[in-house]
Amino acid sequence: MTTVAQLQRASLLPALETRVLLTHVLGWRRTELITRDDEPLDPHAVQRFEALAQRRLNGEPIAQLTGKREFFGLEFEVSPDVLIPRPETELLVETALDAIAGTPNARVLDLGTGTGAIAISIAHARPDAHVWAVDRSPAALDVARRNARALLDPARTVTFIESDWTAKLDPSLRFEAIVSNPPYIASDDPHLTQGDLRFEPRGALTDDADGLSAIRVIVETAPLLLAPNGVLWIEHGYDQADAVRRLLTARGFTDVRSIRDLAGIERTSGGAFTA
Ligand code: GLN
Repeated sequence: MTTVAQLQRASLLPALETRVLLTHVLGWRRTELITRDDEPLDPHAVQRFEALAQRRLNGEPIAQLTGKREFFGLEFEVSPDVLIPRPETELLVETALDAIAGTPNARVLDLGTGTGAIAISIAHARPDAHVWAVDRSPAALDVARRNARALLDPARTVTFIESDWTAKLDPSLRFEAIVSNPPYIASDDPHLTQGDLRFEPRGALTDDADGLSAIRVIVETAPLLLAPNGVLWIEHGYDQADAVRRLLTARGFTDVRSIRDLAGIERTSGGAFTA
């Protein structure tokens, strides 16, 4: 009979990834991998582990194999239809929460919501806020809606709309904050052919152009939906802060600035719009 200790010894994956897949397949806690490591395992569980370990060796992202990823303290469902939430995007959530800190019942819009990670984290932290989220992908919206149902009080949920950026939104809507983590990788960036990115939806990663085309559309159209003095914050690539600040300034935003992530990289830029 196979045991956890044997599977860990034989695994070709990094130890951490082996543990994540084992806890997922067995439904055990991390500590049980130690306390029960010589227990004979159900052969079906062993087979499931071996199948997932092989897929991981072929490059599939851990989050897609387990179907989940933690973001802002919440566990989000993930599928191949959505971008896997990244830790650096928590900065955008914190920035948006700061921006609406003094505004009761603030209205917030997330453009290109994917899993819903940004919108749902904001709604979870601010149950009084009215959070809207759009995505052009119906498959992504299905994932986001399931995440909202699983993570939020039904009375205070997120309003999801299928829309290419702001195109389908009622033009009379107004928001105190608009946030977005759009596809910002340039089409010729070699990262697209490496690691997890190979398995994520291409449309969530790249604009198939210079990396700034989605950001240009958002900067151009967001002011039409901002309440007086409303803010727009956008996540972008490590080398795009200067370009994004220029776009914001050219569109008439004020207080334009960038914020660095934990790695010291300017990761999100934004400003206020006074119509
Ligand atoms: N807003 C989602 C996230 O940050 C999806 C972003 C995207 O697909 N580009 O995870």
